[in-house]
Amino acid sequence: MKTAVYPGSFDPITSGHLNIIRRAANIFDRLIVCVMVNAGKNPMFTLEEREALIRRVTTDLPNVEVDCSNELLADYARRRGSCVIVKGLRAGSDFENEFQMALVNRKLNPELDTMFLTADSRYMYLSSSMVKELGYYGAELSDFLPEEIIPDFQKKLGKL
Ligand code: ADP
Repeated sequence: MKTAVYPGSFDPITSGHLNIIRRAANIFDRLIVCVMVNAGKNPMFTLEEREALIRRVTTDLPNVEVDCSNELLADYARRRGSCVIVKGLRAGSDFENEFQMALVNRKLNPELDTMFLTADSRYMYLSSSMVKELGYYGAELSDFLPEEIIPDFQKKLGKL
């Protein structure tokens, strides 16, 4: 059974993330979406809230599991019996950083490979931080966030 891990901060999960999850779940037997604790970021949603939002939008995907971790990704993947990390690659900015992380993770865990799925053209420039910015200015969000979580997002912004 091939298990892959899709890590990220998912603050919150966007339609771009969900597109990667659906495609990766079609490729692997099991996909673990893991919300990683990132000390450098000041999140809008707590870890538990982010996990719950991901669970809600992936209920129709039986081989997707949602988890969170504050471990090194290379250690987490080893512990969960996964030898593949899935990453989404957007236009421009992602490449350098992701390339470096893939090499470091492989150094830390030589059995670990990173596979990149190219972002869908609709979501090529979409990031959680951009959605937060748009939300702040009251923009229409249905092209960027899964419908089921828009009320949670508006509530967090204090706009509901
Ligand atoms: P963000 O950069 O939006 O804060 P995360 O840190 O949660 O995102 O990203 C987790 C993973 O999802 C990374 O591999 C990132 O490149 C990928 N990703 C983020 N947004 C998109 C998108 N719109 N399309 C495809 N992949 C994406």
